[in-house]
Amino acid sequence: MADRHFLHRFDSSAATGDGGPGYGPARWGRQEAAMVDSGGAGLSRRRVLTAGALAGATLLGTGLSGGRASAASAPAIFYSPHQDDEALGLAGSILEHKAAGRPVYLVLVTRGENDGLARRMNTDPCPMTTEDRRHPCVARGHHGLNWPTIPASASDSVIVPARTAEFMASAARLGVDKVINLKLPDSAWGGDDAFKKFTSTVKSEIASIADQYPGASHKFTAGWLEVSATHKAITDAAVQLAREGKLTDVRFNFVYAYDHELPDRSRGAAYVLNIPDAHMKTKLKAIACYNSWDPSKKLYALGYHSAPDKLEGAAADPHEYVFALPNNKYQYGDIGLENGPYGAKPQWGWS
Ligand SMILES: [Zn+2]
Ligand SMILES: [Zn+2]
Repeated sequence: MADRHFLHRFDSSAATGDGGPGYGPARWGRQEAAMVDSGGAGLSRRRVLTAGALAGATLLGTGLSGGRASAASAPAIFYSPHQDDEALGLAGSILEHKAAGRPVYLVLVTRGENDGLARRMNTDPCPMTTEDRRHPCVARGHHGLNWPTIPASASDSVIVPARTAEFMASAARLGVDKVINLKLPDSAWGGDDAFKKFTSTVKSEIASIADQYPGASHKFTAGWLEVSATHKAITDAAVQLAREGKLTDVRFNFVYAYDHELPDRSRGAAYVLNIPDAHMKTKLKAIACYNSWDPSKKLYALGYHSAPDKLEGAAADPHEYVFALPNNKYQYGDIGLENGPYGAKPQWGWS
C-alpha cells in the first residue's frame, strides 16, 4: 500500500508549535498530506471522488438541510467506539455539522481497556520505534513506565484514564458541545455470547440517548467494513434500532478507511466528505492529541503507540467516507473473529 506509510517524517520543529500546551510535538505536515493528495501515492483527490461516483452512490447530502425546523436545533450525535475513532474518521463530519450550526454531541462508547498497550508503554526502548523506524516515538524512544499489568485488568487503572485524557483533549479541539462517556467494558471480544451481550447493552444505551434527544441524527462507524468486534457490535445495535424505526437519521463513517487503498475507501459510500482546509487543520490537531507527551496531563501518546498507521493514514487524507444504512445482505454478528462466520475482512458487498 503505497499511501499508507507515506507520512513517516516527524515534524520535530513543531515541538513548541501552535497546538497549545501539551499538543505540540505531534503534528503531521500538511504539505506531506497535500503530496499524497495530489498523487504522491498514486491517486489524486479527484480520483478519490471519482471512485465514489463510480461506485454508483446516491448523494445523500449530509442531513444538514433537513426539512423540519425542529431538526435544525436537534443535535448530531457521533458515537466513537474507542478513544481515537473520533479523530480518525469522525472529526471532519463533526466540524461540518458544527459549521452548519448543529449542536454536536460525542459519545465515547467503551472504556478502551488495553493491557497490551500498557506492556508496550512499559518497554524500553520503545517497541513501536524499534519495530518500525517510520513511527517515531514522541518520548524519544524511552518510556519505561512501570504501569501495573498483572493481572491484565490492573492496567485499566492507568490505561483507561490516560486514553480518555487523549479523547477529551481531542473532543475539546473539535469543539463538541457535549461528551457522553458510556464507560462500557470493551467486552465484545471473546465469542458469540460476549458479542451478543455487548450488542444488547449498547443497543439499550443508544435507545435511551435517542429518547432523550428527539429529532437527533446519529452517526456511527461502518462496522461491517472495520475488522473490530467492538465496532461491528455497535453497528449491529444501530442497524437494529434503525430497522425498528427507533433511529430515523443514521449515517456510518468508515473510520478504518485509511488502512485501505483509495478506491476501497469510497467503495459503496453514499457521500465522500471533502474536508475543507480549515477543518483539516483542526482534525490534525485532534489527531495530534493522540501523539502528545505530557504526563502532567495524563498524555502519553497512547493513540499513536496503539495505531500509528491508522492515525498517519487519516492525517494524510482530507476526506471522510460516509455510508448509509447497509443493505439487506447485512448480517449481524462478529466479523472480527479469526475463523468467524464471515472471515476477518471488510464486507464490501453490504454497502
Ligand atoms: Zn475503535
Ligand atoms: Zn514510544
